Amino acid sequence: MPELPEVQIIVDDLNKKVSGKKITGVWSDWRKILNLLEKKGGALKLIKKPDLGEFEEAIKGKKIIRVNRRGKNILIQLSGGSMMLVHQKMTGHFLVGEWNTASGKAVATKPKSIVSDPYNRFVHVIFYLNDKSMLALSDLRKFAKIIFGNKKDLEDLPELKELGPEPLDKNFKFKDFKDIISSKTGKIKQVLMDQKVISGIGNIYSDDILWLAKINPFMPANKISNNGLKEIFKATLIILKKAIKLRGSSISDFRDTAGKRGGYDKVILVYGREGEKCLRNDGGIIVRKKIGGRSAHFCPVCQKL
Ligand SMILES: [Zn+2]
Repeated sequence: MPELPEVQIIVDDLNKKVSGKKITGVWSDWRKILNLLEKKGGALKLIKKPDLGEFEEAIKGKKIIRVNRRGKNILIQLSGGSMMLVHQKMTGHFLVGEWNTASGKAVATKPKSIVSDPYNRFVHVIFYLNDKSMLALSDLRKFAKIIFGNKKDLEDLPELKELGPEPLDKNFKFKDFKDIISSKTGKIKQVLMDQKVISGIGNIYSDDILWLAKINPFMPANKISNNGLKEIFKATLIILKKAIKLRGSSISDFRDTAGKRGGYDKVILVYGREGEKCLRNDGGIIVRKKIGGRSAHFCPVCQKL
């Protein structure tokens, strides 16, 4: 699943490529991704899988003002006080290019970087823009979710309202991090991945953060020393910033909006390295252990419990 770095890369790309442009139409062969949030008689109603004409009518003519990120969500601010909330879920990724839908399926015609990589071939939603470019969502597993509605109404949805603080927010200091983490009794890897505690971190980066901080993923959060917490906080900033700089990891399906792979895979510290030597050369061999529904990768030598 795309984590904070991958979502930030998409957001930065979209600000460069589509902000200021107007949406002139919508195509989809999988309406289940689409949702409309409407206010009727003072109550909010989420219309799932709306009629495509109805969805297009609501969004047509809106100008893309700016794109922001909150946790793993993409927030596309539109004119008229409206917004699109997009969660790419497991395999969703936005692309900017051109597609032909004459066959009933979306076939990319440009750029070459999108056309040539099979991971970009699962386009199920296209937004047509006024300069003839297109914003498309490729999603192999089709779990992504797009909700269009009034900005204020969307901001009240639990998926945004219940999110924990942003780790890369300049105002988010070690003291804030310590306050929220040290009050939790869960295992540190699960605590770091809990979007209500801190937002944006998932399976890959939590493993690398904990390896860099030399903390065992099974350590109860409230049992970690002040120094240990400092190391985790420092590692969180280092890893997330590095991943953004390297354009994310493409271990599974992630591609940027030009359909290109990220570079973090090549410098990955511990995630997916089961059975390999620890990069610290301390004699440790990386193990993989189930934690909740996920797996943690760690070195039993430098990340002792
Ligand atoms: Zn080690």
